[in-house]
Amino acid sequence: MRVQVAIIGSGPAGLLLGQLLHLAGIDAVILEQRSQEYVLGRIRAGVLEQCMVEMMERAGVAQRLHAEGLVHHGFEILFGGERHRMDLHGLTGKDVTVYGQTEVTLDLMQARASAGGKSVYEADNVSVHDFDGTKPRVRYRKDGREHEVECDFIAGCDGFHGVCRPSVPASALTEHERVYPFGWLGVLADVPPVSEELIYVSHDRGFALCSMRSRTRSRYYIQCPLEDKVEAWSDAQFWEELARRLDDPARARLVTGPSLEKSIAPLRSYVAEPMRFGRLLLAGDAAHIVPPTGAKGLNLAASDVHYLSQALIEHYRSGASRELDAYSGRCLRRVWQAVRFSWWMTNLLHLFPENGSFGRKIQCAEFDYLTSSRAAGTSLAENYVGLPY
Ligand SMILES: Cc1cc2nc3c(=O)[nH]c(=O)nc-3n(C[C@H](O)[C@H](O)[C@H](O)COP(=O)(O)OP(=O)(O)OC[C@H]3O[C@@H](n4cnc5c(N)ncnc54)[C@H](O)[C@@H]3O)c2cc1C
Repeated sequence: MRVQVAIIGSGPAGLLLGQLLHLAGIDAVILEQRSQEYVLGRIRAGVLEQCMVEMMERAGVAQRLHAEGLVHHGFEILFGGERHRMDLHGLTGKDVTVYGQTEVTLDLMQARASAGGKSVYEADNVSVHDFDGTKPRVRYRKDGREHEVECDFIAGCDGFHGVCRPSVPASALTEHERVYPFGWLGVLADVPPVSEELIYVSHDRGFALCSMRSRTRSRYYIQCPLEDKVEAWSDAQFWEELARRLDDPARARLVTGPSLEKSIAPLRSYVAEPMRFGRLLLAGDAAHIVPPTGAKGLNLAASDVHYLSQALIEHYRSGASRELDAYSGRCLRRVWQAVRFSWWMTNLLHLFPENGSFGRKIQCAEFDYLTSSRAAGTSLAENYVGLPY
């Protein structure tokens, strides 16, 4: 097969890139190791920045998002029993939209299928070659046969555990990492949310988040020890622990039900630099991970794709490489802003027993500042709704 761009990974980054390249008349193939059903069933993010909504519009796939997505003008913080509303719209003039990653993926997959875009699911042993020269190649195995794709560029959109980043010589890559000493136990359930808006909870027993995917489907999280096994948490134990971390009004409105999905996600901040190696360009989780506290992972994948699609479109329209040369620097500037914000929100809201009473007092002072200073509130709000591309 010969294409202009070989995209590895059919997550949000790969699919969005595929759609934007298709609209620009650039020929691409998406190679994905899993089945389409598996990718669609992965429960992950759900809060979209305004810039990401605009990207979906540009990609021509925002109809259902506008019809079914929930526009949120703010969220609440319940800190040590005290509630404070962050008025995102009042502070920034911008909003966020609650729309599940599974829905984003479905919309993009359907658009690709109706455009006749080339996709190969269940592609085994994907490997990337010769990206330091002018004729990169990708090999994979499908139905017991070996295949090779010749291309001009490889887009590594294959997530944190993908094959592209590890294919770069270690000497060419600098990694920065922070692993947090806890995880998030998440439950998805078909029960109405406790509140119209998200509630972030900082409690003596640990962090909790009341989130949702729709008016009838809730997503809840509680901070848990890293060593915990998801099988050891019954639904009843989860609801009981969540209720303990809420205040009376939220407890009174909490509707429990059987979990549709339950999982533990470790929390990590990670950045690999640079994001371009010759004709291999990384995007999304393939290059960076943030703890989900700031709702930035999916949104960062979208901003990388914004810069990458622009760079490839410029290259194929004019032969210029200015945007390709600037790609890594542009992405990393925004990535580090989101890494800082996600780290800061994680530090503000989680229980860090090793930080002792001093650590908790600092969190209290931070919350006090946040709720008494418009400047501090605006700083949080403008990062939460997303910094401009
Ligand atoms: C459990 C979990 C919960 C999360 N919750 C949130 C949240 O609440 N809020 C938030 O903002 N973000 C959250 N995130 C992060 C967010 O989901 C990711 O940032 C987002 O999925 C990044 O998209 P991506 O396309 O870069 O990577 P991915 O979605 O990981 O997609 C990568 C794709 O590449 C495929 N792939 C991997 N290896 C290969 C290979 N060798 N060959 C071919 N294909 C391959 C994978 O199967 C996958 O389909 C969560 C992530 C996880 C794991």
